[in-house]
Amino acid sequence: DTVSRLVQTLRVKMVLLGSSGVGKSSLASRFGRDEFRSTSPTVGCAYLTQVVHLNDVTLRFEIWDTAGQEKYHSVTPLYYRGAHVALLVYDITQRETFLRAQVWLRELEKQYIPGSTVIWLVGNKGDLAHDRKVSAQEGQSLASNGGLYFTETSALSGDQVNELLQSVAHRVYECIG
Ligand code: GDP
Ligand code: MG
Repeated sequence: DTVSRLVQTLRVKMVLLGSSGVGKSSLASRFGRDEFRSTSPTVGCAYLTQVVHLNDVTLRFEIWDTAGQEKYHSVTPLYYRGAHVALLVYDITQRETFLRAQVWLRELEKQYIPGSTVIWLVGNKGDLAHDRKVSAQEGQSLASNGGLYFTETSALSGDQVNELLQSVAHRVYECIG
């Protein structure tokens, strides 16, 4: 069955968007190596890959992470152009990151990402429930109203991180497979 897998590898560009500090790089590390690392500012775009096997295909995720340009509101559309998946990440303990996610959403919907792109709203830092400022219901509502998908994760504990990637893989396969 190795042969059929080789001929059915789909390349999937997945970009991480969201405010500085919400945990994008931490999630990317989890996806790429299933481990949590505190990250420091680096120069240039980080790029990780992760392979997900579904029943009859292999999805090769190319995971794009910013180097902190979002801090200066200077993420170029080139970054997310052609993306099959955009993970729109906010921090459940920082309300303004949730509002910022909505600004991102409007920008994505405006022109750069075609309707077939899977946009996934991700409420990260789920482990900090005691400090929660955005309810899961609010996240779910925003997603439902915009035709998005929604998951809460913790890049710290790893909770729901693999599940998220698996769900994204299934959805992407339905869209582009
Ligand atoms: P980015 O700017 O969006 O790439 O965010 P980072 O991945 O650099 O994370 C920013 C800070 O939040 C770091 O100190 C991380 O250790 C921390 N962090 C990231 N994800 C989580 C999480 O799920 N829970 C908690 N408690 N801290 C997190
Ligand atoms: Mg980062």
